Amino acid sequence: MKKLEEYVRSIPDFPEPGIIFRDVTSILQDADGLQLAIDSIQEKIKDVDVDVIAGTESRGFIFGVPVAYNLHKPFVPIRKKGKLPCETISQDYDLEYGSATIEMHKDSIKPGQKVVLIDDLIATGGTIEAAAKMVERLGGEVVKIVFLMELAGLKGRERLKDYDVESVICYE
Ligand code: IMP
Repeated sequence: MKKLEEYVRSIPDFPEPGIIFRDVTSILQDADGLQLAIDSIQEKIKDVDVDVIAGTESRGFIFGVPVAYNLHKPFVPIRKKGKLPCETISQDYDLEYGSATIEMHKDSIKPGQKVVLIDDLIATGGTIEAAAKMVERLGGEVVKIVFLMELAGLKGRERLKDYDVESVICYE
């Protein structure tokens, strides 16, 4: 059986020169790759007491929803600004050039709920740090953060040192 790493297509110089883009579509388009990815993420939280799975737009949805479904837990989408129809809270975070804003529905997490955050990849950690802060502002507790892939050289983990963080595949 192939290892998960073997399903990841690496694209040099995308979206900019010097960046190696780790493409998840090559995992998704293979039935074994997709199953292995979901199972591997789920394995990381098998002993975690969790009430809610949350994921960041948009690849966090792809991997978060099947895990929530399998565990029979709710899924909360953390979206880019302006997409959610009801009352929201928002969190700004810095990008390499400029900034971005993500949002959640105010009623999506109840105070005291234990939340696992899932995303496809951690680079600088800025996106997921903003997501974690927003969960906490709603009174949730971030009990674990799981990524399918980690770009360790960008040291995103250092930003997340207060959290329990795991990744399935780690690129140095
Ligand atoms: P961060 O906020 O710097 O950690 O960036 C993480 C976000 O950027 C994630 O939501 C990823 O989907 C996306 N991202 C950054 N680099 C890559 C890559 O090489 N492959 C796929 N997604 C990436």
